[in-house]
Amino acid sequence: MSGTFIGMPTFPQAARGAVHDVTLRANLRHATHTIRAKREKAVSELSDWAALREAGKRIKDHTLRHLDRYLVQVEETVTAAGGIVHWAADADEANRIVTRLVKETGESEVVKVKSMATQEIGLNEALEAEGIAAYETDLAELIVQLGKDRPSHILVPAIHRNRAEIRDIFRAEMGEWGRPAPDGLTDTPAELAEAARLHLREKFLRAKVGISGANFVVAETGTLVVVESEGNGRMCLTLPETLISVVGIEKIVPAWQDLEVFLQTLPRSSTAERMNPYTSTWTGTTDEDGPRAFHLVLLDNGRTDTLADEVGRQALRCIRCSACLNVCPVYERAGGHAYGSVYPGPIGAILTPQLRGTTSEIDASLPYASSLCGACYEVCPVAIDIPEVLVHLRERVADEGGRGHRLEKAAIRAAGWVLNHPGALAAGERVAAKTRRFHPKKLPGPGAGQWTNSRDLPPMPAEPFRDWWRKNRP
Ligand code: SF4
Repeated sequence: MSGTFIGMPTFPQAARGAVHDVTLRANLRHATHTIRAKREKAVSELSDWAALREAGKRIKDHTLRHLDRYLVQVEETVTAAGGIVHWAADADEANRIVTRLVKETGESEVVKVKSMATQEIGLNEALEAEGIAAYETDLAELIVQLGKDRPSHILVPAIHRNRAEIRDIFRAEMGEWGRPAPDGLTDTPAELAEAARLHLREKFLRAKVGISGANFVVAETGTLVVVESEGNGRMCLTLPETLISVVGIEKIVPAWQDLEVFLQTLPRSSTAERMNPYTSTWTGTTDEDGPRAFHLVLLDNGRTDTLADEVGRQALRCIRCSACLNVCPVYERAGGHAYGSVYPGPIGAILTPQLRGTTSEIDASLPYASSLCGACYEVCPVAIDIPEVLVHLRERVADEGGRGHRLEKAAIRAAGWVLNHPGALAAGERVAAKTRRFHPKKLPGPGAGQWTNSRDLPPMPAEPFRDWWRKNRP
């Protein structure tokens, strides 16, 4: 039902269209500036923020270094608690596992709590192809799904929509998928929230299967943790008879005590709250309480390859708070769709090309979707040096010799030859000086043309410096 990112153009192409969309830019500017100011205030309340940030970084680095051990521990503890663990090497395998599990229940509808991992693998589309309808229950995800749209922000997937647009989507689409929007629905937040509540409640009470992601998996007890603001997630986790959680392998933390750090840094960095309104935890199954069957699908999908890269692996520390998006001047203007992935903004620019590789044009363009200003690193609660990884990935793209880089390399080779042949250089300079009246103000071609779109070419002197020096030196 929701759109996919398949077939998206490269970042520069997609961003060019987005920056001319006045409504999109106004919506993004309003939302990101509001939340970044609130975040700054919430963070400044903690005198030990720097220590918490360092602790978060260390916990994640330690876990990643010993991930093999912690993954085995998770399988043991989840199984001991009555859950079943499945291992998925890639998106296809994960989709096959989840589809099979849903089919085994005999159901053709599932409710979902916001899960980036399932968006990453295109689970909704895979389920739809097998005749299973997946209903998003997070409010922003519901807006995206009803609008046949794509998410554009980690935390607020519908950040690119304003209230009037959301009202129009609800009025036009809700009736197609369940309880319709109330007559005369306005764009006040209370009315929009009530319309969504009534629409979703019907689905919660009917659903026999829930699908979730998780913010953390605690290895010592096999406990999964979801933090959220609306409570829809908790309904989704507790009401259905079968719960299937799809989780990236990097979401593990060793012990409950580690949550002490992240449950302080995550809410302040994401929604600027001191704590999340809802923190749900579940450990296997419990008699007469919550789902009777629990499946955990542990997803790799490029994470092991990312872990193998000494510089790039720090992206796996990410706790998906979205603070880096809200301060990024490029994200603010280009919007989330331009990144062509479920992970937009600075973290998307380093995570997506590592998970998917840099062989496609869109993935090779992502490490360049940044001004390298460093604001993302400053706010990151687990101290991911995003600019360092961006530069590292640019090197990788250049080494792999993308189209732009082949031209660049040819130009450098030509320049090297000219500079090594002083006679040819002098002749070239003289010709250039003599013809300077006919020189264009802008360079032609896609690469050079872009460079001179926003800059003037420096004027050519009437005489080469070396000729002038020969005549005028004392
Ligand atoms: S990279 Fe850092 S700031 Fe960005 S979403 Fe991840 S944890 Fe948050």
